Amino acid sequence: MISVRDAQAHILERITAPVQPELLPLAAVLGRVLADNVRAGMDVPPTDNSAVDGYAVASADIPASGTRALEVVAELAAGSVFAGTLRPGQALRIMTGAPMPAGADTVFPQEVVERRDGLVIVGSLAAGANTRHRGEDVQAGDVVLAAGGVLRPQEIGVAASLGLAQLLVRQRPRVAILSTGDEVAEPGSVRKPGQIYDSNRFSLRGLVEDAGATVVDDGIVPDQFGELHARLLRAAEHADVVLTSGGVSVGDYDLVKAVLQQAGGIDFWQVAMQPGRPLAVGGIGPAHFFGLPGNPVASMLTFHLFVRPALWKLAGRRELFGRPFRATALEPMGKKTGRREFKRGILSYDNDRWEVRTTGPQGSGILTSMTAANCFIVIEEERGDVAAGESVWVELFQAL
Ligand code: AMP
Ligand code: MG
Repeated sequence: MISVRDAQAHILERITAPVQPELLPLAAVLGRVLADNVRAGMDVPPTDNSAVDGYAVASADIPASGTRALEVVAELAAGSVFAGTLRPGQALRIMTGAPMPAGADTVFPQEVVERRDGLVIVGSLAAGANTRHRGEDVQAGDVVLAAGGVLRPQEIGVAASLGLAQLLVRQRPRVAILSTGDEVAEPGSVRKPGQIYDSNRFSLRGLVEDAGATVVDDGIVPDQFGELHARLLRAAEHADVVLTSGGVSVGDYDLVKAVLQQAGGIDFWQVAMQPGRPLAVGGIGPAHFFGLPGNPVASMLTFHLFVRPALWKLAGRRELFGRPFRATALEPMGKKTGRREFKRGILSYDNDRWEVRTTGPQGSGILTSMTAANCFIVIEEERGDVAAGESVWVELFQAL
């Protein structure tokens, strides 16, 4: 038996290099991992500018009390530049974002002034008000985006604000997915007696795509040594990761194990966890290999625990795990010591605290327990039964 934590550590140790980088236009980088630090080549904003529509003045012309009339000498739209210098007694009509003219340091919002002929009547105002300063967002030379970060809309916006049109990002890892088992039938086909429809290949595909990788669908493989052997080797030729479900426990037809024992380089673990004990991990040819258990909940859970961090490391990510939360258990939960147990949970914020309850029956074949849930409730190895009111760890399905 191996602990969840040790299994995770061993898996991550094997992944020594990320996939290759590629240069992509900004429109194509959402969700990708940045391959290099991005340094600012310029200040943002590039000049001092007005934060409002109004009148730019020199603070020396602002009356301490009462009002003062200033001559409006020109009008400046965003995108144009005032060529001259504002002289004492003068104001410039200015729009939001337009560069501050030489000689001015303060802007009166148009709502607080009065216009009369060629004059603007101003009251008092703090010097420097309503202006934005060159470099107040980003200074040239700053590392604004760090390698290994995932590009969200705001990171892409920051890159664009620096004038960058493309970014060096990691390719998406390619993951070949195969379902094993004579009993497994393709959805949409006629099911023979004794068969079940393949759900794992579809839930795993979604998990792979959610993790930022791309899927190569290699279909269903029967429990037949020669065919399984050939299909796994072929899958390894066109993928960074080969992912199977089923066939890794100790049944007579659990051939993934037999095939891979022959191929070599694979460890077969009994992980001290519930659900999802058996797990095969290693390499086939140049590809990484994960053999997940066949039970639908177990295959999703083992993906969450073991495959996603590996895919994230392959993709060059800095953060490999989602952040766990603490929540109050709303019901008693049975738990055996010596293994880590994962219940499907519904996490909500109620009664001024984070609360979690289970989805009901927790069998590892009850896939609808996953549709009702939004998290795994994680009960650590050393812990026994959990009483209502005690606090437990929770891992969200979608990482935060
Ligand atoms: P195995 O590990 O191959 O013995 O499979 C364990 C259980 O998971 C059995 O009940 C299988 O029928 C079921 N199972 C295996 N593969 C799939 C699949 N692709 N979709 C749904 N259930 C599966
Ligand atoms: Mg099987």
